[in-house]
Formats: sequence, structure tokens, C-alpha cells
Amino acid sequence: MGYKCYFCEERERVGYWSNWCLECANLRRMLLLYSPKQCTDILKRTLTRDSKQIDYKIQQEVKTMVNTQIERMPTIPEETDDSYEKPKTRGKRCKSTSSLSK
Ligand SMILES: [Zn+2]
Repeated sequence: MGYKCYFCEERERVGYWSNWCLECANLRRMLLLYSPKQCTDILKRTLTRDSKQIDYKIQQEVKTMVNTQIERMPTIPEETDDSYEKPKTRGKRCKSTSSLSK
């Protein structure tokens, strides 16, 4: 035992006659099923990030950090202002004055 995978050189091979570990053998099967280009395109889109994407990801992380901090802050009770009076409507009076003017 102790035969390392020829691809990742980390895990042990499936068997003596095999060159690959279990995960790398699965990767190889996927590369054969779909084209290597298709697989690398998917991996580039999902795993690899360019500097613009990294900046965006950092901004998103900061936003979530700030939002969680805001959620943890104690809420200030809203002061009720009793000095406000509801306006008195003059609907009926207005109608009567308009009828008088005729
Ligand atoms: Zn491997």
C-alpha cells in the first residue's frame, strides 16, 4: 500500500493497477463524459475569481457584516408625539356654503 495517485499525488490509488485515487478517477470520468473545455469553463466560472469578482465578493461580505451588526443593535423606542391633532374636516359645512351661493 501507500501508492499515491498520479494526478493529485495526495491520496492513495484505488488499487495497485490503478493510477488514480477515487476522486481523481471521478474527475477523469467527468472529463471524458463532458469535454475538458466544458469542465474547465465551469470550474473557472465557479471556483476561479478575477479581481473584479473578488472586490464584489468582499463588498457583499462587508454588507452582510454590517447588516448583522445593525440587527444586533438595541432598538430605540419611538417617541409618540401627543401634540398632534387630527385636522377637523369641514366637508358638510363646505357643501352647505356652496349650496347657499347658488
Ligand atoms: Zn488523486
